[in-house]
Amino acid sequence: MKILIADDDSISRVILTAVLKKWGFEPVAAVDGGAAWDILQRPEAPGLVILDWNMPGLAGLEICRRLRKLDSRNPPYVILLTARGDKSDIVRGLEAGANDYVSKPYDHEELQVRIGVGRRMLELQSHLLEAQDALSHQAAHDFLTGIFNRGAILDRLAQEISRAKRDQGALNIGMCDIDHFKYINDAHGHQAGDKMLVAFARCIQGRLRDYDSFGRYGGEEFLVIAPGSVGHGGESLYERLRAGVADTNIPTNAGTASLTVRIGVAAGTGRSTVDALLAAADAALYKAKADGRNRVVYASPSL
Ligand SMILES: [Mg+2]
Repeated sequence: MKILIADDDSISRVILTAVLKKWGFEPVAAVDGGAAWDILQRPEAPGLVILDWNMPGLAGLEICRRLRKLDSRNPPYVILLTARGDKSDIVRGLEAGANDYVSKPYDHEELQVRIGVGRRMLELQSHLLEAQDALSHQAAHDFLTGIFNRGAILDRLAQEISRAKRDQGALNIGMCDIDHFKYINDAHGHQAGDKMLVAFARCIQGRLRDYDSFGRYGGEEFLVIAPGSVGHGGESLYERLRAGVADTNIPTNAGTASLTVRIGVAAGTGRSTVDALLAAADAALYKAKADGRNRVVYASPSL
């Protein structure tokens, strides 16, 4: 584990460096506050910092304040190491944002134990961040298919409308509904139905452009948001998606199966609303069903 030592006193820097190495750490030394601050800005900055209070330029206390102001998700653990040992100094140091305070001359065993506390805190912090990331991923993704869930794809739609407003651009949404899906579930069971949904999602995902978004709207309904132009007729993105699904053979327990999808497409601009776009795509989807499935129907006019 890397530890940043910031101390303008070369003797105490050299001693601390040697001691930390002996304890199995990787010390990174900074000769003053400015150098320490530069190192702390880097992505690979050490998570634990031992800061001298009195340094020319940027003092240890000021570094603590700056670090806390950054409001980072993963702040470093800071131990202030200083000759100032008054109670009022300790209070000031902790108030400025230090996690711990050790007075010089320090007892080696005590410093080692306090570094151990810091390391435990950092480990806990990193486990919490991992758990938080996993939860926020879960909250935004559909458990079965791994793509965005309804909440997340609707958030994305609102963002794309805002973007279109800012760039005076356009966007399209395609509401996709797998044909005869109820029949698949009824005839082959829900496990087979789930496999079909996963295969369908993969098929669509593999045909999207980098900047398109795709999510499960509900049941067998999926939403594809395509910013900008999607082309028209047989060359359009949505037509390619429809054809791609129809051409895909999906392995099942009873041999390969195929799916078809109908897609209701609505085009909008930065002035569109989420509700109006969804309603227009839904109406087009309804028309696609009436016209005989396995087809793309465009709502008109553009909203
Ligand atoms: Mg000093």
